[in-house]
Amino acid sequence: MGSSGRPGSVPPPSDEVCKELWAQVQDALQRRVQREQFETWFRRANLVRIDDREVEVAVQNRFARDWLQNYYVETLEQAVQAVLGVKRRIRLTVDPELAVPVRPAPSPSMPTAHVESTVPATASPGGSAAPTDGSAARGAGSHKSGAGPLDPPLSPPGGLLWNSDVVLNPKYTFENFVVGPCNRFGHAAAMGAGEQPGKHYNPFFLHGRVGVGKTHLLQAVCYSILSHWSNARILYLSCETFVNHFIAALENGDLTEFRNKYRQVDVLVVDDIHLLANKERTQEEFFHTFNTLYNAGKQIVLSSDSPPKDIPTLQDRLVSRFKWGMVTEIEPPCYETRMAIVKRKSRDRGFQMPDDVAQLIAEHIDENVRELEGAVTRLMGYSSLIGKPVTVELAREGLADLLHVRRGAPSMDDIIQEVTQHFGVKLSELQSKKRTKSIAYPRQVAMYLARKVTRQSLGEIGGWFGGRDHSTVLYAVDRVSSLMGKEASCKQSVEELLGRLQGF
Ligand code: ADP
Ligand code: MG
Repeated sequence: MGSSGRPGSVPPPSDEVCKELWAQVQDALQRRVQREQFETWFRRANLVRIDDREVEVAVQNRFARDWLQNYYVETLEQAVQAVLGVKRRIRLTVDPELAVPVRPAPSPSMPTAHVESTVPATASPGGSAAPTDGSAARGAGSHKSGAGPLDPPLSPPGGLLWNSDVVLNPKYTFENFVVGPCNRFGHAAAMGAGEQPGKHYNPFFLHGRVGVGKTHLLQAVCYSILSHWSNARILYLSCETFVNHFIAALENGDLTEFRNKYRQVDVLVVDDIHLLANKERTQEEFFHTFNTLYNAGKQIVLSSDSPPKDIPTLQDRLVSRFKWGMVTEIEPPCYETRMAIVKRKSRDRGFQMPDDVAQLIAEHIDENVRELEGAVTRLMGYSSLIGKPVTVELAREGLADLLHVRRGAPSMDDIIQEVTQHFGVKLSELQSKKRTKSIAYPRQVAMYLARKVTRQSLGEIGGWFGGRDHSTVLYAVDRVSSLMGKEASCKQSVEELLGRLQGF
């Protein structure tokens, strides 16, 4: 790693960056060729090098190389162009190591020797020997101390967890998670669940929009638990897998085995639990699994795109159980956090992103961390392909589509301009401490509009109006909503403003 060179100089695209770019090119390829073709020709291929002349793609043998050369070179060029915005020659080479299948199908269940926990009951998560050294407050990811003898983890970082179909991503640790006002609480609670499973944060229910870091934190909890109890039986599943397993068990008539498997775990982690919506029988089954584990003091960790009460048709008894422990939201990152993330992700890729470029990206990509990350990788790839250092100009060019989309949405400046004009107030008054009705009301309307039409977090919105905190913004949003229900004039003016903003 290391961020050598002056800021903005062309980064040598590391293996890591090539890997991430290749994942984006593979996505583009999947949209261009049929599934079987993709699996046969592109799944095992790998992007090994890019420079300002060509892109080198390695394949598993000479036959594949010749085939791609004859039939797919243009498709590859197009896919690279779709991702990086420039057309480059494709150079195909052979790497026999790629002949090994890249994604071994996960075994449905691990051998018994692995599944039986050798951790004494007292040292198991939820047992009485959970760490009592106040370590909940310590930075997790330190992977040092904990209760009980620290055996080498059964599932090393990146390994397959017990009975799960998920490979932990070694990057998804607490250490690698950038903390800001939007996610501080979720991060702290996740650390608590990881340090003292089955105790205060049970169940731990994390919700937020796509790409805000839910899966990252869920996996960080797993790492943290494994660092304390190396043999913990953590069952980590996507909700979809839980549903599929359940349906298969129903069809095959082996519900008992299904139940045994789920109910003997130490920690159950289910990602994207909102997918239980409208699946009544699976909800029923999950309810019983939940109860069994909960009563046995086992940790349950769930993520969702919305709070429990907003998951459509989720049974009330599940809603109430999900709220028993800790329900916490991760909001989209505020500007400062986005800047920190862009810088951190660049540094992790061995590159020092110039401040003005980081600002440009953080200003325009404002809701999804995955997109922020993708923009960093893409910009680095683009810079190598073009052979020019990373500058604001290059970023505008290479990320035009990403930055353009965001420009269409109303910004805080648009809102402020509309509100100040409509009510005849000045921005400085909105930002002042004045609480007279003629100022407070427009300020509340502006906050309400910001909440409606931007993706900014409550804290971030408050920041625009003299550094007010998130509870003030929440209060403003509630107040304007209720006034709109009571006073026709309020409803009319807010709707007029909304219409103007959305018609931008
Ligand atoms: P979600 O599950 O909420 O859709 P993910 O956990 O998959 O989102 O996050 C998307 C990507 O963004 C991942 O690569 C993750 O590591 C990264 N990410 C999200 N939030 C943060 C953060 N606060 N700090 C560092 N990386 C983050
Ligand atoms: Mg996720």
